Amino acid sequence: MTVDTIVTQGALAQNCYIISAEDLCIIIDPGAEPFNITSRIAGKKVMAILLTHRHSDHIGALPFLQKETLAPVYEMSNLKEQNYSIGPFHFQVIFTKGHTEDSLTYYFEKEKMMFTGDFLFHGDVGRCDLEGGSWWKMQESIHKIKCYPDDIKVYPGHEEATTLGEEKKHNPYFKD
Ligand SMILES: [Zn+2]
Repeated sequence: MTVDTIVTQGALAQNCYIISAEDLCIIIDPGAEPFNITSRIAGKKVMAILLTHRHSDHIGALPFLQKETLAPVYEMSNLKEQNYSIGPFHFQVIFTKGHTEDSLTYYFEKEKMMFTGDFLFHGDVGRCDLEGGSWWKMQESIHKIKCYPDDIKVYPGHEEATTLGEEKKHNPYFKD
């Protein structure tokens, strides 16, 4: 299984991720630049499009890709906190509200990776002062994610990847 990162240009530089297993793939947060995404997935069947939350910088290319691929869209409104399997892709959905009411994290246990959207960044957490944001819920989410193993690689919605262990040690919002 491989992870490909597409960073969209512009002020909001957002990370779109493509997870591939041979000729199958899933897309996480198609923020913008649909042609950039379609060229990277050329020849692969898109099994699903996963959304971490519906902020415009994370779903800009969604309408185009839905039409183009006919892949089902997974998001808070049709997911529960449980395990899912889509073809060769197995992941757990963890609700991580706080940045928004619909913020969630996709955790691939076997591959030791999680996709946190705008919940968790390297050394930071998402802002909670936008519509639907809640600092109280953010703290609950941080508390929840602390229970997961240190060696998980964290792929956030913006900027560089990190590990959960690194965040437990150095992220100021993870201090008790
Ligand atoms: Zn956001």
